[in-house]
Amino acid sequence: MTRMLIRNGRLIDPSQGIDAGMDLLIEDGHVAGLEERIDAPPGTEIIDASELVVAPGFIDMHAHLREPGEEQKETIATGARAAAAGGFTAVCAMANTVPVNDDPSVTRFIIEKGREAGGARVHPIGALTRGRKGEALAEIGEMAREGAVAFSDAPLALTNTLLMRRALEYCRSFDAPVFVHPEDLLLSDSGSMHEGKVSTLIGLKGMPAAAEEMMVARDLILAASTSGRLHITHVSTRGSVELIRRAKAEGQRVSCEVTPHHISLIDEDVAAANYDPRWKMNPPLRSREDREAVLQGLYDGTIDAIVSDHAPHHRDENEMDFADAPFGVSSLETAVSVAIDRLYHAKVLGITQLVRLFSTSPAEILGLDAGSLRPGSVADITLLDLGRRWDVHSAQFISRGRNTPFEGVALRGKPAMTIVGGRIVWKN
Ligand SMILES: [Zn+2]
Repeated sequence: MTRMLIRNGRLIDPSQGIDAGMDLLIEDGHVAGLEERIDAPPGTEIIDASELVVAPGFIDMHAHLREPGEEQKETIATGARAAAAGGFTAVCAMANTVPVNDDPSVTRFIIEKGREAGGARVHPIGALTRGRKGEALAEIGEMAREGAVAFSDAPLALTNTLLMRRALEYCRSFDAPVFVHPEDLLLSDSGSMHEGKVSTLIGLKGMPAAAEEMMVARDLILAASTSGRLHITHVSTRGSVELIRRAKAEGQRVSCEVTPHHISLIDEDVAAANYDPRWKMNPPLRSREDREAVLQGLYDGTIDAIVSDHAPHHRDENEMDFADAPFGVSSLETAVSVAIDRLYHAKVLGITQLVRLFSTSPAEILGLDAGSLRPGSVADITLLDLGRRWDVHSAQFISRGRNTPFEGVALRGKPAMTIVGGRIVWKN
């Protein structure tokens, strides 16, 4: 039997209502016990977690790992290891690969590559429609049987309303959530940043908040009428937060997520950065008021999870003009730190809320046997050093993507160790 004892940590487990100084014993990859003091049997590997938070493993529900097809940007192996370095014990791989993950053979390929990677666990998200073309449903049932945990055409919205309704109905039979990218493409009209005072001032074409909010409203209506499981990705506007808050108050079963960049940056930062494409994402960095609403949504529980929306790009693409550059940032290795710095240290959220957003809630949304340190649980564990100060240097990223707006930024808080199935896969 292999044994590991994590000693003297501050154990935070929202699933059991625990915030206490405790030792945690792992036996053969599972949590064997939590006590104020555990005496280790001989031969036990001891980890000193003094000054560290010990939490159930963090789960990133939304990342683009690029393989198959765009291995110059990222591979499943580099993505899974970058996720582990960022404090995640599991990462979900979006379906917009080449070929698209719309078929059980691609789903199986991603799972096998994920197992070989030796980093975070990799859970594939299957495409909702064949080829992400929005015309016919993909092989959802077969992908679900193969191990796909959710279904999504992100970063594309499904414009066909009838097909969206069928998708919600069909996924309900597998109890699988539908992850939607809320964007009315006609309204966002090839804009490159948030439509507002700043976009007008600097002369860039804007994407209005209404482009997101209309689709949030549509999908909430469709989900209510089908009892389907709707998950809204990267909520970024005040109107979206309000719509979701109201739906939840009415008892609707809906979940949503935000990214670390939308809680920390705003459209004014795009101007301040001189239109550097590393500040270009979809949804775009919104206004100060929108960010306030997102922070309020995190605080009051309207927002369920924080995800990286890791979208690595090749260096050539980072040297393009703002308007032509692709959307997205490389964020697996900064997501948790940015959240600790800008939410916990800024006194927006307590540490238990933060752990819930990264671990307990994502496990519930995805229906994974994870997100808890109850005895008997699989030993997926994230250790955090809340006080550790560091500067972001993308040259040190494990990820192949170096496109980050946090280059050179000083952050307080860093993942200290990532344990998957009782095995240390990353140590800072
Ligand atoms: Zn995405």
